[in-house]
Amino acid sequence: MIKKIPNQVKEVLEKLESSGFEAYIVGGCMRDLIMDRNPKDWDVTTNAKPEEVQKIFPDSFYENEFGTVGVKVEKFVENGNSEREHDVVEVTTFRIESKYSDKRRPDQVRFAETLEEDLSRRDFTMNAIALRIKKFDFKIIDPYGGQKDIEKKIIRTVGNPHERFDEDALRVMRVVRFHSELGFEIEKNTFEAIKKYHGHMEHIAQERIKDETVRIILSDNPAEGIDMLHKTGLLNYVIPELEKGVGVSQNRHHIYTIYKHSILALKFCPSKKLEVRLASLLHDIAKPQTKRGEGLYATFYNHDHVGARIARKILERLRFSNDIIEKVSLLIDNHMFYYNPDEVTESSVRRLIKKVGLENIKDLIDVRIADRLGSGVPKAKPYKLRHLEYVIDKVSHDAISVKMLKINGDDLMKELKIAPGPKIGAILDVLLSEAIEDASKNNGDRLLARAKELEKEDLGKLRDMAKEKIEDKKEEEDKELKGKHWVK
Ligand code: ATP
Ligand code: MG
Repeated sequence: MIKKIPNQVKEVLEKLESSGFEAYIVGGCMRDLIMDRNPKDWDVTTNAKPEEVQKIFPDSFYENEFGTVGVKVEKFVENGNSEREHDVVEVTTFRIESKYSDKRRPDQVRFAETLEEDLSRRDFTMNAIALRIKKFDFKIIDPYGGQKDIEKKIIRTVGNPHERFDEDALRVMRVVRFHSELGFEIEKNTFEAIKKYHGHMEHIAQERIKDETVRIILSDNPAEGIDMLHKTGLLNYVIPELEKGVGVSQNRHHIYTIYKHSILALKFCPSKKLEVRLASLLHDIAKPQTKRGEGLYATFYNHDHVGARIARKILERLRFSNDIIEKVSLLIDNHMFYYNPDEVTESSVRRLIKKVGLENIKDLIDVRIADRLGSGVPKAKPYKLRHLEYVIDKVSHDAISVKMLKINGDDLMKELKIAPGPKIGAILDVLLSEAIEDASKNNGDRLLARAKELEKEDLGKLRDMAKEKIEDKKEEEDKELKGKHWVK
């Protein structure tokens, strides 16, 4: 274990000790070391006051009220931030928590005299373990049985869970985040206390809820994490819209309720990208309110478009970035794209690419795979979608935008002596819609010859012609039709 501690961190400890202070490795990095995981940041706790720490490390910075000094060290974090010139070891003076009147942060920071006091304010037993290195020896200080809990894979609060959650509401989200990141179970009293204190979530800033939710979604067990939010009552404060699908049945194409299907789609999402995982979880978010009828023949028309709007609202509320919001709503809006390998034409695939963008196609397919695998229907065959990837590859060099046509506006003006004006754009749009239908039409001579014919039409007619024969057929509708004609 000692071998895994980077020299840069050991040097920080040694410098503090040789200046007459106590210094310990503590918190998440100790937990990760014991579990043989790679810590992503290194925390040190000490009885030196922030000013004293700064004196020992002149190149350090102290920019907060919580007694944490950032000590700059030579880079050592694997896959760390490559733009940074140095890494940082956080050195925090022993602290004891005073009252949290707003359930978010201590009213004031009080420094403590002993390590034991400092460990007592930490959230979970697995995070309240300290390590001191002395020359060739080391000592683990573990007053709350953290090592045993790590071995048993249990998350347990330090002290009475009711008091600890009452002090700081964010801890309830941290439990669930650690449950999904580490795959640990939640100790019974800790679990009961979360259920009791879920109302405190109202005191937590949306950004903090977002940060923990993102970590749940990107963890190895995201579905278990979201389901734990549900079981503890926290989901009502994170994505209450998902609760509306609990217990709501679907139709003959589904064996699971809307809620269960959403969770399973997240579970089976083949992508590690945040946007794709979010879209998988939220793709059917509008099904509860778009449901019409009951039983085997219930329908959910437009749930994709309504869902894209609801997802946008959810993500805005949680303060996600615009990029994420746009991408997730695009994926949800288009998740019902029609695909049947026996019928699909290259032109319909070109239209799909034009609509969602080539750069988003792979992610859209991943959402569909998540949807299929999460539906639990035996005939779900995601391999068919791999055929779509093949067709996409095949047509990906075909023209799907005016820019990709073999001629441009200048050519029309020069070769055909067409005067500048809106007609040029309209002619190009018609040429594009025809090339989408038949890729062989994207050929310089053929385009020029066709443009000559088109020039005779007036602007209004050209605009009508350019309007694609929108084939917005959806799998949902297709299934309904087949259901009507062939089933029974
Ligand atoms: P990770 O770095 O993987 O998120 P971590 O446990 O290191 O996990 P940090 O947020 O880095 O989490 O916090 C470092 C340590 O500070 C924790 O291990 C814990 O001892 C303590 N801590 C963090 N947040 C809280 C809190 N809300 N209440 C009590 N102690 C906390
Ligand atoms: Mg940490």
